Amino acid sequence: MKHEVVLGLGSNRSFMCGEEVLAPPVILERACRALSSLLSDIRLSSVYQTEPMYVKDQPPFYNMAVSGFFDGEPLELLDKIQRIEADYGRCRKNERRFGERSLDIDIELFSDFRITSERLEIPHPKLCERAFILVPLLEILPFCADIKNGGFYERRLRNIGKSGVTFFCSPFTLYKET
Ligand code: AMP
Repeated sequence: MKHEVVLGLGSNRSFMCGEEVLAPPVILERACRALSSLLSDIRLSSVYQTEPMYVKDQPPFYNMAVSGFFDGEPLELLDKIQRIEADYGRCRKNERRFGERSLDIDIELFSDFRITSERLEIPHPKLCERAFILVPLLEILPFCADIKNGGFYERRLRNIGKSGVTFFCSPFTLYKET
């Protein structure tokens, strides 16, 4: 059964891929290409440059949101996005919490599911406090409802403000591979 999902993507560290150095916006673009084979009717937000939120002494992040329909269960999606993170250099063992990362993909929403388990919390527990994910999310889903607290995410964003979140570039175009 297909479920509508919203993912939040972030990157603030380059990744050496063979001879090529991939800068954070390029990593996001490649991750979107990988996600396009997992999700149908995929939609991408613009990319935003954002100030680091919890650990300040690190480069700015590049963030965006992706929505689409996933045919499977939440933990299957988590496994698949963690594989994409690993393909782009993510190594949790060698990083500080909320610090630099080549690629972070969070499941923000999975249909109207509410999950609290060891590996997964949905809706993502920090969604309401993060302008860096609410701004791109609302760009693609302006009327998205907050199933946890009631009301709409648009209202939450008005409460926390958009400070530290700056437009960087328009949504990537994903060409179908032939
Ligand atoms: P992070 O370091 O932020 O990428 O996430 C660390 C861990 O958070 C992951 O290994 C997941 O098991 C867990 N996690 C809990 N809820 C979520 C969620 N909604 N999306 C992604 N990861 C989650």
